[in-house]
Amino acid sequence: MPKVPRHLRHPRHLRHLRHLRHLRHLRHLRHLRHYDSAVAEPVISIANLSRRFGEKIALNSVDLSMPRGGVYGLVGANGAGKTTLIKHILGLLQAESGSVRVFGLDPVAEPVAVLSRIGYLSEENDLPGWMRVDELIRYSRAFYKNWDDAYAEELRQSFALDPAAKIKTLSKGQKSRAGLLVALAYRPELLVLDEPSSGLDPIVRRDILGAVMRTIADEGRTVLFSSHLLDEVEQVADHVTMIRQGTIVMSAPLDDIKASHNGRTLDEIFVSLVGVTNT
Ligand code: ATP
Repeated sequence: MPKVPRHLRHPRHLRHLRHLRHLRHLRHLRHLRHYDSAVAEPVISIANLSRRFGEKIALNSVDLSMPRGGVYGLVGANGAGKTTLIKHILGLLQAESGSVRVFGLDPVAEPVAVLSRIGYLSEENDLPGWMRVDELIRYSRAFYKNWDDAYAEELRQSFALDPAAKIKTLSKGQKSRAGLLVALAYRPELLVLDEPSSGLDPIVRRDILGAVMRTIADEGRTVLFSSHLLDEVEQVADHVTMIRQGTIVMSAPLDDIKASHNGRTLDEIFVSLVGVTNT
């Protein structure tokens, strides 16, 4: 009697296997789709963005695409247009011409969908002065469903913030740390920092800020930070965009920029491109 092939002897088992294979196939596809969309859809996509304030051209036909993951440094002299660009990304300014997409969405039309995925710390960092640090943490956590209590506490300790201290009594650097805690504790997909170093002493800048940015990038999330401190940008950024009088003069991976400028420092490259010292 001919031997019954194994798969015919166990049809149910086979169906089960086929089912598993099917699932695995789907999972694989889902993974690929996720991967594809992560690669194909930049976190920030800006095309031909221009902005005037009266006669002043603050942004001039800016094109910028930021793929997911990594630390992006935006550098420019005072008045170059960094904050104006960031305000468009946050949906605080509407594009006069051109388009801005964040996570594929228009941040002006869909502010909640966009802002709930962004952590933001501004130069002004206007926290409510009358709150205590622990009240600020409790108040902020109510807004974000992804708020991570353990991480918030970890940050509070590493930033050496007294939970009972009133915000208005904190130093500028401590206020920056409190703002950074709030911006980080819900683990946003995109962290936007506008001149985060102002008011922070060099050790805090190097140790805390650098570590925060690297951690976020290592977790596959994205950081965009503006700075005029080029040595700091050089230490932490993967990609550098230089802006001068509203125009992007260079946007490339830091390693490529350095390789194509014979190992000069970012400061020297900036001066050669922008023509002024940036400090
Ligand atoms: P800084 O490092 O000094 O903060 P920046 O690179 O962030 O500078 P922006 O604040 O974006 O520069 O300003 C770009 C230009 O647009 C500047 O000339 C500024 O004076 C002008 N500008 C920005 N906002 C306004 C406004 N609301 N009204 C009028 N002019 C503005």
